[in-house]
Amino acid sequence: MESVDCVVIGAGVVGLAVARALARQGREVVILEAENAFGTITSARNSEVIHAGIYYPAGSLKARLCVQGKAMLYDYCRSHQIAHQRCGKLIVATSAAQVATLEGIRAKAAANGVDDLRLLSRDEALELEPNLQCEAALLSPSTGIVDSHGLMLALLGDAEQAGAMLAVCSPVLTGAVTADGIVVEVGGDTATTLLARTVVNAAGLTAPELARRIEGMPAAHIPPQFYAKGCYFTLAGRAPFSRLIYPVPEAAGLGVHLTLDLGGQARFGPNVRWIDEIEYGVDPHDADSFYDEVRRYWPALADGALQPGYAGIRPKISGPGEPAADFRIDGPATHGVPGLVHLFGIESPGLTASLAIGEAVAAIAE
Ligand SMILES: Cc1cc2nc3c(=O)[nH]c(=O)nc-3n(C[C@H](O)[C@H](O)[C@H](O)COP(=O)(O)OP(=O)(O)OC[C@H]3O[C@@H](n4cnc5c(N)ncnc54)[C@H](O)[C@@H]3O)c2cc1C
Repeated sequence: MESVDCVVIGAGVVGLAVARALARQGREVVILEAENAFGTITSARNSEVIHAGIYYPAGSLKARLCVQGKAMLYDYCRSHQIAHQRCGKLIVATSAAQVATLEGIRAKAAANGVDDLRLLSRDEALELEPNLQCEAALLSPSTGIVDSHGLMLALLGDAEQAGAMLAVCSPVLTGAVTADGIVVEVGGDTATTLLARTVVNAAGLTAPELARRIEGMPAAHIPPQFYAKGCYFTLAGRAPFSRLIYPVPEAAGLGVHLTLDLGGQARFGPNVRWIDEIEYGVDPHDADSFYDEVRRYWPALADGALQPGYAGIRPKISGPGEPAADFRIDGPATHGVPGLVHLFGIESPGLTASLAIGEAVAAIAE
């Protein structure tokens, strides 16, 4: 059995940021990834939005790590020449009732330290985005977009430069807590057994399931695992807006919003469908419900203009109808197992927060 200092399970954006932070502390790091490449699961199936940190409950990990991670991410993108754009976002009210909600959203954002939101009248909003229909809007200037693959490539490069090693096609099958450290059984073509002082479970969608496969990890500290799929529909032709457009959130979720990629292509979504098994098909019929929602703020959307895009799955640890759970970074202080850190429920804004999550994990894994 080979001994290593740290094992990071999962090479998504979060696992890579954790590996980078640990390696830069001078620790020996092996990243184990089940797939044949890094970043092919949720980190490749999201909106690539750098979130400002507006909606999360004040004091939550999501709020704190999003705001901190956003600042770190903009700095990192600049210093590592990662494609990104601070394009801004408009939250649009399409009825008088929704206008009143905007002020509440601004107050919530301010409680999270996001104090640059600007309330715009209808005319001011239309001056920025002439194709918009709205009664009023909130402008979030610090929202942006990022090339998530470029980000992951840079994180891996930094981690490797600091001595970390990525092993692909290396699924972790089981683990066991022993007096000497944590034993990790790795499958795949070059199956092996490792003994690690620190193990970080950054397995994303299946992090709770993996935690249950670690003998000696107390089950009472493992959350349930739920999947909430989100489908996107893309728009053929030129994007009608140059900023991201979000309706005022109602009930569950952020509404069918418009995001842009760095090539200027517009897409709408993601919607929310609770599923039991991981699958990424996009049902063209789902578009039907998008048209009405989008036309509230963009009446010019033509029939048939939406094309099925792609889907991602939110790694949920709270189920349908329950309030959204906070991120969980569960170290020994939570579950009592020395050297073991689990990342549970790292849904949005996990991409934005990735660098801050990396620092937070490195701090408790010391
Ligand atoms: C629809 C959608 C839209 C989103 N939009 C945004 C957004 O705009 N902005 C934002 O900030 N966030 C967004 N997010 C959230 C963001 O995408 C995630 O928080 C982030 O990608 C999570 O990264 P991760 O590394 O934790 O997980 P993943 O990217 O899923 O990586 C986990 C890795 O672990 C590997 N793995 C799993 N099990 C094992 C095992 N047993 N052994 C070895 N490897 C294993 C997997 O193969 C995978 O590569 C969105 C999420 C979704 C679903």
